[in-house]
Amino acid sequence: MPEPAAADPDEEARHAWERPGAHPVAPGIHRIPLPLPGDSLKAVNVYAVADGDELVLVDGGWALAEAEQLLGQALAEIGYELGDVREYLVTHHHRDHYTNAVAMRRKHGGTISLGEGERACIEAIRTAESHPDIPRLFEAGALELARMLAEWTGERDLTDWEDPDRWLPDGVDLPLATRTLRAIHTPGHTRGHLVFHDAGNAALFAGDHVLPHITPSIGVEMNRPRSPLRHYLSSLELVRALPDAQLLPAHGPVTASVHERIDELLRHHEERLAATEAAVVAGNSTAFEVTQALTWTRRRRRFAELDLFNQILAIHETMAHLRVLGERGRLSETPADGVARFAPV
Ligand SMILES: [Zn+2]
Repeated sequence: MPEPAAADPDEEARHAWERPGAHPVAPGIHRIPLPLPGDSLKAVNVYAVADGDELVLVDGGWALAEAEQLLGQALAEIGYELGDVREYLVTHHHRDHYTNAVAMRRKHGGTISLGEGERACIEAIRTAESHPDIPRLFEAGALELARMLAEWTGERDLTDWEDPDRWLPDGVDLPLATRTLRAIHTPGHTRGHLVFHDAGNAALFAGDHVLPHITPSIGVEMNRPRSPLRHYLSSLELVRALPDAQLLPAHGPVTASVHERIDELLRHHEERLAATEAAVVAGNSTAFEVTQALTWTRRRRRFAELDLFNQILAIHETMAHLRVLGERGRLSETPADGVARFAPV
């Protein structure tokens, strides 16, 4: 659903980070916002890390002609061109991070590295015969939405879903001329998500693991683990245990403290867990029912006000919280005709 025009200054300030260009954020690092189609999230940050005569890019953007043009212009501002990119380090396989790296590699060269945990999702995108959300929505009790999705017959464009050159394992150090980046596996947003830690300069390329303005979605992927929120919360704790660092997120402005934002995200999920449990105690038993009993986005929208895509995200999000409540012994989960029913213990 379209947001009202950005008349108030707060709303304008929230969008300031989307302005195109190469914005210096730390010595040798520029933040380059690239456009996204659609009207919810407007941009994704690609970070250009200078490495002598070459560049390493963290994340690649969404493959669009406009993205190539704006990336080329931004690199020209700092004295480079697209052919100078030696490597794309991509935090996860989502289209807005990965596909433009593939498109740029095809046209301008360079290599792509992606977390090895993403391999199953890339393969599933290429080979899945039906949408994995159909059984998930059924399990959540959203039978009508599952039916709608089953009837959808869109063409799949697989052009930009080629494999990376290298699958990165957890903990691998990536030596650059000026710094060393460590790839750290942070499953949750996706199962193979990586952050890149520049410990020497106290900076964290956080991808979608830690975002300053929005709460990252959990487990939006073809091969979703049973309890993606449990993985996500563990990954937040893992990064919280590292020394504090400047937050270089994939969406939103750069901020001074990763720790501060992780504390907010952990609090947010505890509040959502409490609200989810209360909705089950009030008599809602399926993820679909609980989703409709809760409010969504920072504007506290009703479920019915969300568009189809966000309704499906909301149902997944609720299921993820219900599963963590089950693991914590707060709720029981019983399958009935393929639908998961939750009850207070
Ligand atoms: Zn993502």
